[in-house]
Amino acid sequence: MNQARRRASRIASTAANVPYWMDTAPRPAVRDNTEPSRRVDVAVVGGGFTGLTAALNLAQGGAHVAVVEKGVVGSGASGRNGGMCTTGMTISFGLAVKRYGEDAARRMYVAYNHAIDYVESVIESESIDCSWQRSGRMTLAAKPSHFEGFKQTQEALREVVGQKTVLVPKEGMREEIGSDLYHGGIVDPLGAGLHVGRLANGLAEAAERAGAEVHEQNEATGIRRTGASGFTVDTPRGRITAAKVLVATNAYTGRLVPWLGRRVAPVGSFIIVTEPLGESVCAELLPNRRMASTSLSLLYYFRITPDNRLLFGGRARFALSSPESDQKSAEILERGMAKVYPQLAGVRIDYAWGGLVGFALDRMPHAGEHDGLLYSVAYAGHGVQMATYMGHQMANTILGKPAQNPWADVPFRAIPGHFGPTWYLPFAGAYYRLKDWLK
Ligand SMILES: Cc1cc2nc3c(=O)[nH]c(=O)nc-3n(C[C@H](O)[C@H](O)[C@H](O)COP(=O)(O)OP(=O)(O)OC[C@H]3O[C@@H](n4cnc5c(N)ncnc54)[C@H](O)[C@@H]3O)c2cc1C
Repeated sequence: MNQARRRASRIASTAANVPYWMDTAPRPAVRDNTEPSRRVDVAVVGGGFTGLTAALNLAQGGAHVAVVEKGVVGSGASGRNGGMCTTGMTISFGLAVKRYGEDAARRMYVAYNHAIDYVESVIESESIDCSWQRSGRMTLAAKPSHFEGFKQTQEALREVVGQKTVLVPKEGMREEIGSDLYHGGIVDPLGAGLHVGRLANGLAEAAERAGAEVHEQNEATGIRRTGASGFTVDTPRGRITAAKVLVATNAYTGRLVPWLGRRVAPVGSFIIVTEPLGESVCAELLPNRRMASTSLSLLYYFRITPDNRLLFGGRARFALSSPESDQKSAEILERGMAKVYPQLAGVRIDYAWGGLVGFALDRMPHAGEHDGLLYSVAYAGHGVQMATYMGHQMANTILGKPAQNPWADVPFRAIPGHFGPTWYLPFAGAYYRLKDWLK
């Protein structure tokens, strides 16, 4: 266990901001002193699910590929999330139909099911030990009117997508959750959970086995076009020339690719994880071990970890992740957790951390090519499955194989006023709080 964890207070020190998933995933051999090849077919910038799955598939397809990662694999959002593979988009199905038409909305919705299937298949084919469980996704109605909305959602999904969901009325909720706070729920059995630290490391190892280079602690400091021969990627350990570059930096893009940076807003999301609670307490909290989230825009999401702790997350504050921000958010989340589960008041919080979720203006993922650079980003809190899937699809695109990109025709607009600092986050927070209050 990481030394930075302090057991004296109920909330551990978050100064180190070490996610549970990264602390409990075995780390393989050191990857931080290797020199990248000077010339490769494809350079991948970013060692999260997008970059690692792309590298794996590119290497398996015969390409010489080098991943450069500024931290360690999974140290971005991929090792900091809730570990939930959920069905459905960030926006409602109804809004997607309004915006893109029924056919496109159906394709987009179903892509998330395919994405979950792909995560399952890559875990199986690469024998990645990451506690994969198809225990289902459950959305909890924070207000009675939300449960009425679930009925319409169920109908629309059955009719248009053929997706089968199960409605749980308020009186049946104790079968699903050890809390009386919610006004019913909707369960989608296709949702799944996993240990994301183990998946990130497993994908990196699989990519290396297939012949990819993975260089950690090696930041891309500049990407330049070099005419016909492609691109150069500068790193502290040497310049890489590559025919193609995949930018897989999502919410952590910063100023590396300004065009992309202006289109992806990094929004902080925060998580706490309790001490181990034991089988029987967990069986009371979430008897079916579903991936749970609430129906509000400023939602809570929670699940049981493979070693019987409660993981509890949310957009506790509209702020970026920093030691102070993570600490404040942990306190807010602890109060939220005690509201949902009064029986947990007083349990020790062993982990608390924050990470950045990448949002586009339209809250849709975006993938394609700009000025010759390939990118896939902005999964808006649904990237465990979609980043993994899109990494595969981007590899197919580069290899000239048939590829699925449901986001190809979705306009990717710059976020007005977003040139770096996210000054607008408190305003966005106020907007969503008001929306939750009114809805
Ligand atoms: C707290 C939190 C909870 C979440 N919960 C869920 C969930 O339960 N389910 C779900 O589906 N999604 C969830 N998400 C979103 C999901 O984690 C992301 O969508 C997904 O991991 C994105 O993967 P990625 O590979 O595109 O990006 P990342 O994993 O963020 O990887 C980008 C990488 O690029 C690296 N990088 C950046 N700049 C450079 C550079 N110049 N040179 C080299 N490397 C660089 C970063 O260090 C980082 O490792 C959550 C996110 C957060 C933060």
